[in-house]
Amino acid sequence: MSDSCLFCRIVAGEIPATIVDETDTTLAFRDISPVSPTHVLIIPKAHVATLDEAVAVDPAIAADVIARCVHVAQLEGLAGGYRVVINNGPLGGQQVGHLHAHVLGGRAHSWPPG
Ligand code: AMP
Ligand code: ZN
Repeated sequence: MSDSCLFCRIVAGEIPATIVDETDTTLAFRDISPVSPTHVLIIPKAHVATLDEAVAVDPAIAADVIARCVHVAQLEGLAGGYRVVINNGPLGGQQVGHLHAHVLGGRAHSWPPG
């Protein structure tokens, strides 16, 4: 838990979020500024800053988050397909320094991303 981390504060219940899925090790909640009809963030409850850091600590952290993305997509009824995005570091577009995967669905998603 990092007192200064937004997503740790969501895990701690100090900042409200719309929770859609929870396990002992992960939390999934709706993005506050959705870019798709379904836009859910999946995070490990334990603080790790980036995908790089998670894999360095234990690759199972990343696997846990990805597996939960698939579960959330099923919960959200995204049978036609969806996108999973993990922004890593400044050039990856990461703005919140606690690992999170975006699950985007409910519309077609073009390639390449911006
Ligand atoms: P990223 O650019 O990959 O770090 O994505 C950060 C995401 O967190 C953005 O899509 C934001 O809209 C989202 N976000 C920021 N603050 C909150 C919040 N309090 N609750 C839910 N989502 C948030
Ligand atoms: Zn954190």
